[in-house]
Parts: sequence; structure tokens; C-alpha cells
Amino acid sequence: MAEHILEPFIGKDIISEKVKELGERISKDFKGEKVLLVGVLKGAWMFLSDLAKSIDLETEISFISVSSYVGEKTTTSGVVRLMCDIDRPLEGKNLILVEDIVDTGLTLNYLKKLLSVRKPKTISICTLLDKPSRRVAHINPDYCAFEIPDEFVVGYGLDFNNMYRNLPEIYKLTIKK
Ligand code: 5GP
Repeated sequence: MAEHILEPFIGKDIISEKVKELGERISKDFKGEKVLLVGVLKGAWMFLSDLAKSIDLETEISFISVSSYVGEKTTTSGVVRLMCDIDRPLEGKNLILVEDIVDTGLTLNYLKKLLSVRKPKTISICTLLDKPSRRVAHINPDYCAFEIPDEFVVGYGLDFNNMYRNLPEIYKLTIKK
């Protein structure tokens, strides 16, 4: 069986500091307006839950579920599929897509196209992590907590084969065959 090696990458305290900062920036940028946070499942659930607590605005929350990885892989298949749609109307709203990580950008490119047809007032992207060196689609997050190099990471919502999502900090994962 393959061995999983987890190395600490981003600790709890720095995550909570950065997430709080993002919430405060969003509160400032949308002052006097309402926002709709849409978490991209499953990876963004822990980030969204902490982010939402530091947003001082009238805030709706919803989720959307997409899939682009198949089984035990650490690279995207490149084909994004919608698994479960948002349960709220988007027309006229300040939509903030909340992602765990932007890698190739294909997922957010797909979601932006899918959701812009529903006429939100604004669409912004808020991501916990960004791997700009891996970008294929032209996606620039409006809010990003950490830019990271091309490493596969898990924890704080992010998984490998649906494991490690519950870890409170972020780890680099290496798989030894
Ligand atoms: P993209 O479409 O930008 O290539 O990929 C976005 C999705 O790929 C993320 O939402 C996440 O699920 C997955 N992903 C990309 N890089 C990583 C990584 O380093 N770790 C984990 N766990 N998932 C990743």
C-alpha cells in the first residue's frame, strides 16, 4: 500500500489571521450591500465557515458542488461536472464564489460562465489558496489568503481521496508507492 507523508505547511494561527483579514476586506469592499457566499464543495466548507464569521454584512450562504478529480489522483481530469446546483436565485446579487484552491483555474472558469448567465450584480472569487504557476484558464482571484508553489496540499477542508479534510491546518502530502 502507498505511504502518505504529511508535512506541516500552513499553521492554524496564520490561517485564522489571514481568513479574518479577508473577511474584513470583503466587509469593507461591500459596505452597505448584501453578499451571497457560495462555497464550492466539498473543499471550501471549513474555509467558508470561518470566513463567514468575520464578514460584517448581511450575508446569504449557499453551496455548489462540482467534481474534476477522479479517484486517487492529485491532478485534475480537466473535465468539470456539476454535481449539485445552488439553491438560491442569483439575479442582482453580489455573488462571492468561495474556493479552497485555484489550480488550473478550470473549475472557476466553468462556474463563472455557468453562473454569470443568471445575472448576478457582481461575481467575485475568494480562495484560501492559489497555485498561480499551474494556471491554464484566465482566472484571477479577487481575494486570496495564500499563494503557494506547485505542491499537493491537504487539510482545512482539502482532501486526498476524501481523507484529511478535518485537519485544522494545511499539510503538504507526498505519496510513496
Ligand atoms: P482547478 O480547476 O483550479 O484545477 O482545480 C480546483 C480544484 O482542484 C480545487 O477545488 C481542489 O478540489 C483541487 N485541487 C487542486 N490543487 C489541489 C491540492 O493541492 N490539494 C487538494 N487537496 N486539492 C487540490
